[in-house]
Amino acid sequence: MKKISLLLFDLDDTLLDNSSWFDKGLTQCLSKHPLTINVDTVLFLELVKKPPRSLIDKLISGEYNTVEFKRARWKYALEQFNLTTDIETLDQLDTLFYKTSMDYITVNKSVLCLLNDLSKEYELGVVTNGLYDPQQKLMNMGLGKRLNSDKVFHAEQLGYRKPDPRIYSKALDYFNKQPSETLFIGDSWTHDVVAPMENGMEAIWVNSRNVSPSTSHMPYAIVSEIMEIRDLLLSKN
Ligand SMILES: [Mg+2]
Repeated sequence: MKKISLLLFDLDDTLLDNSSWFDKGLTQCLSKHPLTINVDTVLFLELVKKPPRSLIDKLISGEYNTVEFKRARWKYALEQFNLTTDIETLDQLDTLFYKTSMDYITVNKSVLCLLNDLSKEYELGVVTNGLYDPQQKLMNMGLGKRLNSDKVFHAEQLGYRKPDPRIYSKALDYFNKQPSETLFIGDSWTHDVVAPMENGMEAIWVNSRNVSPSTSHMPYAIVSEIMEIRDLLLSKN
């Protein structure tokens, strides 16, 4: 592993536990907005977290941009409660959710300490498809300086998403690194292991849900949570 000098991280469900801020933020948002004040929040949450495959496919194919996808997801969940509304209200709900949920993202001292230690031996970047502002998330996590906007490659801003090779190339170009000098760390087998490996990088898979890989790729390591990379990547002196 001596040759590796750049670590690229996925953000959601890798550095940041998504279920906590998303669930709490959405639950509170639903109880605040007049349109959703009486909905079953547990069911609504499930619908938002698992929208129909057709909506996800439209996001992946580029037919929907992020804003359109989020509107369609809100609309779909509302329709299951026989609620219909206009685009302005969908956007209003999404803004309320964003503002409410970001407050639930706070400093995780273990992750902060891990990245501080890793930064002594590696350059660090983030490559994310996240639907909500990664810079705000990182700031709330206390990582805003360590991972400033130059080092965050966000699908929404770039116009292409993981596993599109261009998003990885963009990060490598910024850091002036070869794929062989780079290791990708993330929870998505397709986005964070297969695509980086197909593009010549090493990968560590954060398999916290203990799922089976869908291809025969052999990443450098498989861990069950992010803190396990400390022993794998830091020299012991
Ligand atoms: Mg992820």
